[in-house]
Amino acid sequence: MKAHVSPSIILRIKEIGESDLIVTFFSADRGRLRGIAKGARRSRRRFVNCLDHFCLSTLEYTEKPGRDLCFLQSGKLLENFPSLRSDYTLLSLGGYLVELTEILFPLRVADPAMFNLLKKCLGALHEGKERDTLRVLFEARAMTLGGYEIQLHECTICKRSYEGQGRAVFKAERGGIACLRCAKETTESPGMNPLSVKTLDRLQSGWWPERASLHLEEEVIQELRPVLTRHIEYRIGRRLKTSACLG
Ligand SMILES: [Zn+2]
Repeated sequence: MKAHVSPSIILRIKEIGESDLIVTFFSADRGRLRGIAKGARRSRRRFVNCLDHFCLSTLEYTEKPGRDLCFLQSGKLLENFPSLRSDYTLLSLGGYLVELTEILFPLRVADPAMFNLLKKCLGALHEGKERDTLRVLFEARAMTLGGYEIQLHECTICKRSYEGQGRAVFKAERGGIACLRCAKETTESPGMNPLSVKTLDRLQSGWWPERASLHLEEEVIQELRPVLTRHIEYRIGRRLKTSACLG
């Protein structure tokens, strides 16, 4: 059995029997994994406060070839982001970020950029940064990392290149924008102004607003939210369970 040590974000915990825990975690170097922590609820020595939802912990674990579950040996808490568990709206949004991560990344698909995105977003949520902005930041980048980037550089119908000339229409079934000659703005096909398209393009390529407030223009947020919601529902084929709890 090979031992690994990985910085990891705790996604899900399930109690098993009298003292064990099944823990789903997203590791920085090996992707999403599930492991059993034997005796974790009795022994607080090997896992001191490090197996709680959204915690960032260094986990030591072993894997056996062909086994779905790894064995958690010990853990050390790095960051516990306490406000994510004490404020209901933060808890809901944190749960939503976790659900989207789990859908986009099957077990053992490593993606350090996704790990960093989730860590950054959970940290910023805990610090009280704007929730609507963070949701848009996360959705745009996570979908791109999961293989579902929105095509923004040309009309996906007539193929005319788009360089910010007027409004563009998002077509979920085409995975990208269309020009106003080819499509009309409707509730199902929301429109975006050039600034929203440009901002989405930057968010997809990993840009992170450096301003302390993490603020994006309200108009941009209002336009990107329906676009990303439709994009996610179309690609995933359903609404996320946790999205019902979000405002
Ligand atoms: Zn067109």
